[in-house]
Amino acid sequence: MNRESIIRQLTETEGVFDFIVIGGGATGLGIALDAATRGYKTTLFEQSDFTKATSSRSTKLVHGGVRYLAQGNISLVLEALRERGILRKNAPHLVKDQRFLIPCYRWWEGPFYFCGLVVYDFMSGILRFGRSMCIGPKRSVKTIPNLRQKGLTAGVLYHDGLFDDSRLAVNMVRTAVDAGACVLNYMKVTDLLKEDGKVTGVVAQDRETGDTCRIKSHIVINATGVFADTILQMDTPGNRPMVRPSQGVHIVLDASFLASDYAIMIPKTPDGRVLFAVPWHDKVIVGTTDTLMKETLEEPVALEEEIQFILHTAGNYMTRAPRRTDVLSVFAGLRPLAAPRSEGKKTKEISRNHKIMCEKSGLISIIGGKWTTYRKMAQETLDFAIRRTHIPARNCVTESYPIHGSKPHPDFSDPLYVYGSDAGEIRELIASSPAMAEKLHPRYAYTAGEVTWIIRNEMPRRLEDILARRLRILFLDARAAMEMAPRVAEILAAELAKDDIWKENQLDAFKEAASAYILA
Ligand SMILES: Cc1cc2nc3c(=O)[nH]c(=O)nc-3n(C[C@H](O)[C@H](O)[C@H](O)COP(=O)(O)OP(=O)(O)OC[C@H]3O[C@@H](n4cnc5c(N)ncnc54)[C@H](O)[C@@H]3O)c2cc1C
Repeated sequence: MNRESIIRQLTETEGVFDFIVIGGGATGLGIALDAATRGYKTTLFEQSDFTKATSSRSTKLVHGGVRYLAQGNISLVLEALRERGILRKNAPHLVKDQRFLIPCYRWWEGPFYFCGLVVYDFMSGILRFGRSMCIGPKRSVKTIPNLRQKGLTAGVLYHDGLFDDSRLAVNMVRTAVDAGACVLNYMKVTDLLKEDGKVTGVVAQDRETGDTCRIKSHIVINATGVFADTILQMDTPGNRPMVRPSQGVHIVLDASFLASDYAIMIPKTPDGRVLFAVPWHDKVIVGTTDTLMKETLEEPVALEEEIQFILHTAGNYMTRAPRRTDVLSVFAGLRPLAAPRSEGKKTKEISRNHKIMCEKSGLISIIGGKWTTYRKMAQETLDFAIRRTHIPARNCVTESYPIHGSKPHPDFSDPLYVYGSDAGEIRELIASSPAMAEKLHPRYAYTAGEVTWIIRNEMPRRLEDILARRLRILFLDARAAMEMAPRVAEILAAELAKDDIWKENQLDAFKEAASAYILA
């Protein structure tokens, strides 16, 4: 994953690419990975860092969606449960079995949710993670000591998947690159190339050098999530907006707010939403919200009412209620929901299914969906694209194609477990000198060696790429990320041979971005 050599590979590639994918989130990366592993000449352009937008800001669940089951969306749940199992098989170092508890405060809730979850287990078939159970109030409190006891009638235990979204994405990039794809970050598509009204490629600008290039391909796929309308406007100015952004916010708390390795799932908050409190990298993520937004910002900001809603609702279920000052980090993401034809629908009623569309020009767009189903969405998009062109059809192989780093039976207590089969190499680098063993923060295990390995192997170009999407510390503890930033900037500048001015600019840019993750 060396950016310079991938750019060289891109410019030296003879002839026309089969696929250009625009967007380096879950959807675009899934498509590039599928295309490259089928043997197609593939390139992907991401305007910022991989998963800079929505795909780093999920609830971290690889799930069938208990809520969608309650809504009767059986086909979505069936597909997602199957994909949950496939993803765990292909990336066992990044997807783990997570146990959840649904606290019940009315007599009928225990039997009701238990019956639903028995169906959920049954629908998972042989890819089931574990069996659901109904337990009494005493055992529920023993399971999650901070659970509110007053009025508790039962608890329902069930299993789903937990993952690290950005780390999975980086491993997907590596898998696609190993399969021959040119995958580049900081490469923005600024226009579409057309001949006789048909899209024949893109104009892309390297955001590091300012250079532009014109790359041709048989098929161009727009996988830009909430930004999809910008690409659609390049194709047909004045197009009806196809995306409805809906914001979801999470707050991050200390692990003591659960004091358990179980997660809490509240299936119906007073205003009809779902709230999760999930243990993740020794912290607890609590969320989320569903707020229809008018604007599509690159760095969405949590609204005060969203934060209040999460704190207040979590407080209703926890003996020790979280306060504002307990929030270690806050992050907001925009769901790329496919816009409904009729206005006035509430966002929680808009379908979570994805939509694949083809314009008259041949431009293909994919909008919506979930991280969990990225592989199936990619397969469908490619099959759809192949049917519309003359390129020879090749079968999808991703159902049993290990993601880079894949390692059976990972030890999830190892601080380097997210690196899977790369962890040994990182450990060797850390042990190679006292400088590499240097700890970067007194409260966290990160070392200079780990950061150096990331820079050499995972294509981070900016300070934020490392702290937000490789180490994840900005999401876990934004103040600690700020404290680590100067030393990480030094390591990054030295590795990329950049001067002090560049380093200072990186620090300033990071401080500005990180301030959105800290609650005033
Ligand atoms: C709050 C929240 C919680 C969620 N939780 C879960 C969950 O727990 N489990 C689950 O399965 N799903 C979850 N989802 C859904 C999931 O995160 C999204 O469906 C998925 O990440 C969307 O990925 P994407 O690639 O379509 O969009 P994005 O991740 O937004 O990627 C699009 C990319 O395109 C790039 N781009 C835009 N314009 C250009 C251009 N001109 N040139 C080049 N690149 C460009 C952007 O920079 C961006 O990186 C959640 C979503 C939200 C918002």
